[in-house]
Amino acid sequence: MRQYETRKKILVTGGAGFLGSHLLDRLLARGDEVICVDNLFTGTKRNIEHLLDHKHFEFIRHDVTFPLYLEVDQIYNLACPASPIHYQHDPVQTTKTSVHGAINMLGLAKRLEARIFQASTSEVYGDPDVHPQTEAYWGNVNPIGVRSCYDEGKRCAETLFFDYHRQYGLDIRVARIFNTYGPRMHPNDGRVVSNFIMQALQGKDITIYGDGSQTRSFCYVDDLIEGFIRFMDLPRAENGDPGFPGPINLGNPGEFTIKQLAEKVIDLTGSASKLIYQSLPSDDPTQRKPDISRARKYLNDWQPAVQLNEGLQKAISYFDDLLTKT
Ligand code: NAD
Ligand code: UDP
Ligand code: UDP
Repeated sequence: MRQYETRKKILVTGGAGFLGSHLLDRLLARGDEVICVDNLFTGTKRNIEHLLDHKHFEFIRHDVTFPLYLEVDQIYNLACPASPIHYQHDPVQTTKTSVHGAINMLGLAKRLEARIFQASTSEVYGDPDVHPQTEAYWGNVNPIGVRSCYDEGKRCAETLFFDYHRQYGLDIRVARIFNTYGPRMHPNDGRVVSNFIMQALQGKDITIYGDGSQTRSFCYVDDLIEGFIRFMDLPRAENGDPGFPGPINLGNPGEFTIKQLAEKVIDLTGSASKLIYQSLPSDDPTQRKPDISRARKYLNDWQPAVQLNEGLQKAISYFDDLLTKT
């Protein structure tokens, strides 16, 4: 547990969201002081209500597209809607959040000489024609499609991070996150894991988009957060070298078709739900699987420990509780 002398003051933007709230828990548990900044667009106070009385925790309702003046040692920039339904709801705001949000947080980090982490995404690879995806792959992204506000916003944010790194020597950490799931996902955000579990628990039809042969690789949230912290804690070299900026893939290389996922969820919930097939949204990537050699090399052999069945069971218990309470 960190004491007064070693305790860090850490800003987490998007901290009231799914991933952010798990990160807050981990940072507070090890004794850091944490400020959560969130505009509660997709996040909710329910995700952080257990922290509101914690003496090392502070919540600020704020939109990162506006400047922010605070004093902190480290910044994790997670603020951005992440599910297709949410980021396509107001696409202009999504790009602004990614781009203006990144500029403001980078400006803050520059003034403070603080290390800054960026939650980038496997979407920077678009619909990849290289499989599995390594960080060296530049991607196959449609610049004008319905997913572009998110994909290109995140790509531009990466550009900004690397230019602040090159131009000002800023200590950046860019992680490309692959599909992650677990407790505190928004039940109605349309992502596949939450959709399938909610549908199965309520005995509704399971909606497979397309023929269900598209693949994704699903990482349990605890494994991902462990990767975030190991990456952020990598020391900066003493010789003025600005450290290892990434990008680094973080995700679980286990690859499943969406149909296999649906069958697993039915199996684990014992649901009588039927599979139904609906049209595939445009630009939906056909395959996705991270190559995590770089993360293993730099992050002390980091690799996910939670298998899909085990993680799904935890997520199912969470959504089951949520349905019982509401
Ligand atoms: P989430 O929607 O649960 O969390 C995002 C949070 O950001 C929410 O609390 C939301 O209210 C907040 N936010 C949105 N716009 C904001 C703004 N303008 N100002 C302040 N706060 C704002 O999503 P998540 O799954 O927790 O994703 C967190 C980050 O990780 C996002 O940047 C996302 O792009 C990235 N990511 C997530 C995944 C995944 O599978 N979960 C995969 C790739 C990348
Ligand atoms: N910024 C901020 N907090 C700070 C410092 C900067 O929000 O503590 C914002 C500010 O709005 C600025 C942006 O970050 O527009 C980029 O800052 P930078 O110093 O890189 O550029 P400049 O101020 O020259 O535009
Ligand atoms: N998907 C699906 N049914 C749903 C929700 C999603 O078949 O109810 C599919 C979606 O078309 C995509 C995959 O599941 O191929 C993952 O979708 P999600 O929105 O979770 O993440 P992303 O497409 O951003 O990876």
